[in-house]
Amino acid sequence: MAKSHILGFPRIGADRELKKAIESYWKNDITKVELETVGKQLRAKHWQQQIDAGLDFITVGDFAWYDQVLALSATLGVIPERHQEETITLDTLFNMARGSSPCCGQQVAACEMTKWFDTNYHYLVPELNADQKFALSYNQLIEELQEAKALGFPIKANLLGPVSYLWLSKTNSDFDKLTLLPQLVATYKQLLANIAAEGVEWLQIEEPILVQDLTSEWQQALTTSYAELAKGSNKLLLTSYFGALGDNAKLAFSLPVAGFHIDLSRAPEQLDTALALLPAHAILSAGIVNGRNIWRNDLATSVSSLQQAKATLGERLWVASSCSLQHSPVDLDNETKLDTELKSWLAYATQKLTEVSTINALLNGDNSEQLTTRVTESTAVVASRATSSRIHNAAVKERVAAITDKDAQRHSPFTQRIASQQQELNLPLFPTTTIGSFPQTSDIRQTRNQFKQNIISQDQYITKMQAEIKDVVKRQEALGLDVLVHGEPERNDMVEYFGELLDGFAFSNYGWVQSYGTRCVKPPIIFGDISRPAPMTVAWSKYAQAQTNKLMKGMLTGPVTILCWSFARDDISREEQTNQIALAIRDEVVDLEHAGIKVIQIDEPALREGLPLRKSEQQAYLDWSTKAFRISASGVRDNTQIHTHMCYCEFNDIMPSIAALDADVITIETSRSNMELLSAFTDFSYPNDIGPGVYDIHSPNVPSVEWMTQLITNASEYIDVARLWVNPDCGLKTRDWKETEAALKNMVTAAHHLRDTF
Ligand code: GLN
Ligand code: ZN
Repeated sequence: MAKSHILGFPRIGADRELKKAIESYWKNDITKVELETVGKQLRAKHWQQQIDAGLDFITVGDFAWYDQVLALSATLGVIPERHQEETITLDTLFNMARGSSPCCGQQVAACEMTKWFDTNYHYLVPELNADQKFALSYNQLIEELQEAKALGFPIKANLLGPVSYLWLSKTNSDFDKLTLLPQLVATYKQLLANIAAEGVEWLQIEEPILVQDLTSEWQQALTTSYAELAKGSNKLLLTSYFGALGDNAKLAFSLPVAGFHIDLSRAPEQLDTALALLPAHAILSAGIVNGRNIWRNDLATSVSSLQQAKATLGERLWVASSCSLQHSPVDLDNETKLDTELKSWLAYATQKLTEVSTINALLNGDNSEQLTTRVTESTAVVASRATSSRIHNAAVKERVAAITDKDAQRHSPFTQRIASQQQELNLPLFPTTTIGSFPQTSDIRQTRNQFKQNIISQDQYITKMQAEIKDVVKRQEALGLDVLVHGEPERNDMVEYFGELLDGFAFSNYGWVQSYGTRCVKPPIIFGDISRPAPMTVAWSKYAQAQTNKLMKGMLTGPVTILCWSFARDDISREEQTNQIALAIRDEVVDLEHAGIKVIQIDEPALREGLPLRKSEQQAYLDWSTKAFRISASGVRDNTQIHTHMCYCEFNDIMPSIAALDADVITIETSRSNMELLSAFTDFSYPNDIGPGVYDIHSPNVPSVEWMTQLITNASEYIDVARLWVNPDCGLKTRDWKETEAALKNMVTAAHHLRDTF
């Protein structure tokens, strides 16, 4: 019979048990043995769930204490010198992740973290030296295989492949990391032999880089690596996900492995290619159930899309999730507060297990009553969702359809706008401002919680928040800042806040997914056409403006960021959803202007991370995403100043798109690079105003006046001083007041010095 499996299950636990246990361990509230027990129980539970759901294998190797790439680095002995110890233990992994040294708990640099392909999951970047040695050094995978074996489960092991591992690594000096491949593959061969020695037949070996643009060197690396790895006795299931194999398909299917997994949820069109290229005896694992969203699968459609493949391949067709389910929340059954209709449209990881096994059973010809009922139900749900009036809002659709290029354009070009803004705003040289949030004290968080739980009334809540805003305004006046903010005390999160006030969004209680380590996020769910029933920020900004004669900056989250940090709909395009949000934000911007707010910031920290993996798809994304931003920003008069903010600095390759945003002012992160990154703006002759962050808000250190003066002086070598703003790198909500006030005081003093100099 053809088999069904998943590529991995979320490790965090339905109630974030793993997060809680690890954090307790860090605080010394539980012992290592107690922590290990929690991990063991979670693994056993998740394996049992896979079998109970009717899958043919459990997947072992998807568990990680902090991150799967970190665990693999430990396994391969890739430990930066500053973290090296005689034996590698769980604590070594935590030290690498969190930056304490093996001896005496001193702080040393943590390993860098970066996004896992185009997901919101972050992995720890392996650090490789030119003379890097690899050696099996950490036994977690083998121990987990033994653990699963002892429990009697049918096992498939799972491992990130050597070429993708190398691709995701960084080098500590300038050398070609591919020179390390032969030695790395030799170590993998030992690991694969150890896996086979446990009696585990199938190994899901993941090479997600196969869905990216590869140079011939990297393609060659795959060919030579798999020629070697195929010499072992493991049955290798070469696994790709997050996109189509595309121009790597020929290469992939030529590798000497026993099976291939492809992502048919993201790239259904590649099924035909796969069928044409699949070697005669190989397995094709069809990733048909989306591992990255929360929507219930349309079982009948899935089955029919695979019918032809089934007829051709018979038992050689396996059914699977598109990618690891670690990107979906754990269990929908826990959601008691979602209304039943919406809930019936959803499937979390636990529900997806049954979807996978059901599709496989149906393809295998099982038409028991239980299965037919599941199909009938799924079909009914899909139909109800497709036609629900909760999803479809004709007015919103018409408005999006009617968007013209003019809607995405300010009235006049920047040079004209900035002149009339200067008249209106009358700002000094080196104007000072902040990015929006001020310290979120426990008092503020408590007030928000009390309001949420109806412990205090709306009036009490507003009074308290207004007091907070007034305090923040007075402090900023005392500091002498030029453009003030209200401080965002009413916002728990920059996306959730807007999602809660927009129609078309829903919020779960248990929709947690791991973002990194013990940090989990609960993205809002976009389920329907998005509209703004009422202004969302105007009252707070208006109140804040009324407390001061200085300029008050309105503060909004941009449409691209709201989309990127939510679970999006799968029935309309991302572009269309973003445009719907853009129109709602546009109305808010216009309302702020009418309320007397002359400077409005629209944050887009997620713009860059939405970039597709394939170069060929990037321009289209950048075109519609920058246009959506402009739609949100262009409803106002020339003399209203639009700011945007992004908390990163890799702009080189997307400079034309940054310029295409046409924000009057952009504030960015630069302080850690000594302003050198501004050269991207200079090289591109970026025309508009820029606020390069002059201090790193991630650190509690108070930067000195001299330090910041020097940084801004450096910046002036790249950017005309008439266009420079002075501000921190990002929002201040994670800092406390003492360091915040000290740092801002120095920042304002530095700006004053510079006004005298220039
Ligand atoms: N305005 C937001 C803040 O200050 C921006 C946060 C961000 O860029 N991530 O907190
Ligand atoms: Zn930021």
